[in-house]
Amino acid sequence: VTGPRVAVLSGGVGGARFLHGLCAELPARDVTAVVNVGDDFEPYGLHVSPDLDTVLYTLSGLIDDERGWGVAGDSARALEQARRLGDEAWFWLGDVDLGLHLARAALLRSGAPLSSATATLARRLALELRLLPATDDPLRTYVGTDAGELDFQTYFVRRGQRDAVRGVRLDGVATARPAPGVLDALGSADLIVIAPSNPLISIGPILAVPGIRSAVAARRAATVAVSPIVGGRALKGPAAAMLRSLGHEVSPVGVARLYADVCATLVLDEVDDGHAAAVEALGVRAVVTQTVMTGHGGRRRLARAVLEAGGLRCPVAAGP
Ligand code: GDP
Ligand code: CA
Repeated sequence: VTGPRVAVLSGGVGGARFLHGLCAELPARDVTAVVNVGDDFEPYGLHVSPDLDTVLYTLSGLIDDERGWGVAGDSARALEQARRLGDEAWFWLGDVDLGLHLARAALLRSGAPLSSATATLARRLALELRLLPATDDPLRTYVGTDAGELDFQTYFVRRGQRDAVRGVRLDGVATARPAPGVLDALGSADLIVIAPSNPLISIGPILAVPGIRSAVAARRAATVAVSPIVGGRALKGPAAAMLRSLGHEVSPVGVARLYADVCATLVLDEVDDGHAAAVEALGVRAVVTQTVMTGHGGRRRLARAVLEAGGLRCPVAAGP
């Protein structure tokens, strides 16, 4: 017997935490995550896929919960040695994390596309959900700044998000194809969720893969998005600053404008209750609830609220 199938569009930290709650509320085998790869890059000759890795580590329990990424308690002896030997090594990869990257590198070198390498790693980490990159093709986010155009990790890590973002360019997007399984998962899901992830650099690159945005739009009535903007701020990362510098309203209304063609429902936080009417004026149903995922209970509570908003669970049936 299979329950309702849910497909989730996800970035890193916000998406992974939501997925963690969802997989506690539903059998994880009925959940498919479609994950951003725009942040991927190749330091040290290794394929790093930060958002996929954050999902892998969050759902396997290896995650450093405080930071939201990387492996808890990881050391950096390999990188320290690289620095002693003259490499700048500005992209942090812990020793244990490096182990995952060596395993991924071997899979990719044997000819596996990113999607099957990801499925293998997920299986070896005993994850039951289906974890798919949005695309197997190279799709890389670049941001336009006053210091010139920067690849995503140079902007995000090396320069610590200090540059105002004037534009976003998705290199390779025109010829990227949805990874195997993505369109099927979107077409057959009982519910599609747009996780509380950065709309511009996490969800944007997923929807921009030719065929994905229209596949979600075709299921608009069954799609629920969660606002990552709470009380005019992002809980983590550059989403608020980026929305502002690119001319979007930093509120659930700005988020609803970006998603109005793909979702019929937006879940927004209680503190943003005052924005509900403006969201609905855009033709998007507003569901107001607590959306801050404090602890595992908070993740599960948000997952339940989203399932309920999507009509998959009635309020009285909600578990503890
Ligand atoms: P990244 O790829 O690691 O940057 O992570 P995502 O794009 O998946 O998520 C970043 C976004 O998640 C930020 O805009 C945060 O505001 C949002 N976020 C993180 N935690 C929460 C939460 O508990 N509730 C809500 N509503 N949004 C959250
Ligand atoms: Ca990311």
